[in-house]
Amino acid sequence: MAIFIVYCIRQNMIAESFSKILFTNRFSHLTFYNLYLRAAGILISRPEGHIMITEKLYYKDSYKKSFTARLLAQKQDEKGVWLLLDQTLFYPGGGGQLPDQGQINNLTVKDVKEDNDQIWHLVSGVPVPADNVEVKAAIDWERRYYNMQQHSGQHLLSHVLHESGMKTVSVHLGESYTLIEVEGNFPDHNLLGRLEELCSELIRKALMIKTCWVTKDEIDRFPLRRPAGDWRRLRVVEIDALDFSACGGTHVKSTSEIGCIKIIGLEKIRGHARIKAVIGKRADQYFEQLHRVHIELKELLQTETENFAERIRSLKNEIKKQKKETDFYIRNYIQSKSKQIFDANNLKDDIIVYHLQEGKLENAQELARNLADNYNQITFIYYENRFFLTAPADSNFNTSHFLNNYRAALGLKGGGPAGFVQGIIEKPDESALREALLEFRGNEN
Ligand SMILES: [Zn+2]
Repeated sequence: MAIFIVYCIRQNMIAESFSKILFTNRFSHLTFYNLYLRAAGILISRPEGHIMITEKLYYKDSYKKSFTARLLAQKQDEKGVWLLLDQTLFYPGGGGQLPDQGQINNLTVKDVKEDNDQIWHLVSGVPVPADNVEVKAAIDWERRYYNMQQHSGQHLLSHVLHESGMKTVSVHLGESYTLIEVEGNFPDHNLLGRLEELCSELIRKALMIKTCWVTKDEIDRFPLRRPAGDWRRLRVVEIDALDFSACGGTHVKSTSEIGCIKIIGLEKIRGHARIKAVIGKRADQYFEQLHRVHIELKELLQTETENFAERIRSLKNEIKKQKKETDFYIRNYIQSKSKQIFDANNLKDDIIVYHLQEGKLENAQELARNLADNYNQITFIYYENRFFLTAPADSNFNTSHFLNNYRAALGLKGGGPAGFVQGIIEKPDESALREALLEFRGNEN
């Protein structure tokens, strides 16, 4: 044993001298660092026999918020600088759960990923510490705790769905809501309501949520809700003898911490039911948002909650009725206005140029169509900077050709088929327009 310790110390000294040469020359390249780590292999090797693996502190205590660690290595890619630590509380994501965020020294951790038992932290900011120094780190606890609530709530909801014959096929644990896709009988809203109540009961009972590592020999003692894939050691998450599932995520200790599970959506996808829920803190925020909307609606509709639907139905009917009346008056207006424009043209020719200064844009379009169809007039109507040019169906006047020929001279932009073009007119000049229309009609004939 003594010889072994001396050997370790010696190896360490060799490695440290090697690293001093490298670091004093500011030559902290990963390849050389790996050499250094291999030289000091005995010191940093883990029982699994890998070098440079990260110890997963979040499995020891998922409630711990800060820690110190040694920076083993760093690398850069298109996303930025990634730091490898000898131990971490940062969960790298997986099993549907999002990765943690937080701080390492004064650097912001934006993403975390696991690669062969190494946990890499994507950071932004300066200065990035030199390799092998000790760093102080803290996870974004608010984000992590919501992820723990959400993940545990998903286990519970998947459990009650499973008991009702709906097996979880996939889960998505997002920033603001949870999606669970299930196969089996398609549920209705009544059933989901009952399952939600069942979840609330299990939450109130404050059932223990425990985790343990299991080998192949022991697995038969754990009736997993969903069979696990290929594995050597499996992490099992148990809700008080009720539900067992293989999971690598972080969870709360008791169902009481889940707070609330509210199902807010149900849809059919890939032949499965996809259930949308808000859990824990997001459920609280959802109810707060509903409450605000409710207050606003009460004020706007001037009635109590139970009358909202009836009030909205009657408003919709009222709008429908008024629209019918408005359509009637607009039809009358178009007819009488068309006649007025036609009469004012004094029958001098069959070309009308008119500036509409009342009503709305749609009226201009209707008038142009009506004057062409019912009064056989080549009609150019403009409203603000928009114009409509129409020609009777049996005339030789090709509105599209006219637009192409006079686009530049009259400052027109737009297009359309042979009998109807529309667009923008920058500076309308009534006499120039009339002249151009007359000229074009003369040439066409
Ligand atoms: Zn889990």
